[in-house]
Amino acid sequence: MSSVRVCKTFTFDAAHQLLGHSGKCANLHGHTYTLEVVLEGEPMGADHPSEEGFVLDFGDLKRTVQEVIANPLDHAFLAMGNEPVLATLQATGSKVAVLGFRATAENLALYTCHLLQQAGLPVYSVKLWETRTAWAEVYAKDVPTTGPTYCMLGDCDDE
Ligand SMILES: [Zn+2]
Repeated sequence: MSSVRVCKTFTFDAAHQLLGHSGKCANLHGHTYTLEVVLEGEPMGADHPSEEGFVLDFGDLKRTVQEVIANPLDHAFLAMGNEPVLATLQATGSKVAVLGFRATAENLALYTCHLLQQAGLPVYSVKLWETRTAWAEVYAKDVPTTGPTYCMLGDCDDE
């Protein structure tokens, strides 16, 4: 059997603030992120009758992405943890995800790739679109099992 790659695309909305950035990304603002998840594996055989020919049922992929990425991140403020606005958002019950790293496209691609690997998916790569014209891509083989190393500074795309 040959290995096959399959891809499913997801979107989520989130806010971030890149403190210390010299441009307009230093302001609190948001993006509609698009996440392309590529899986690789051998299609299942006849011993999985309802999933024969699938690398993974797209419905199962959707459920996992919903659980480990969309539920915690969608419509949240993606915080590094040092943003002055964070305390106010938490005190007023607004949704926040304290990531401990700067929410650049590069870091979010690393983060989502690692989460999906940890969830047991046969991840090949993850591509995170921050805008319609800018993305960051991570190959799963490049992410250590102990987790990625994140950059603490960085920019976002202002198109
Ligand atoms: Zn941004």
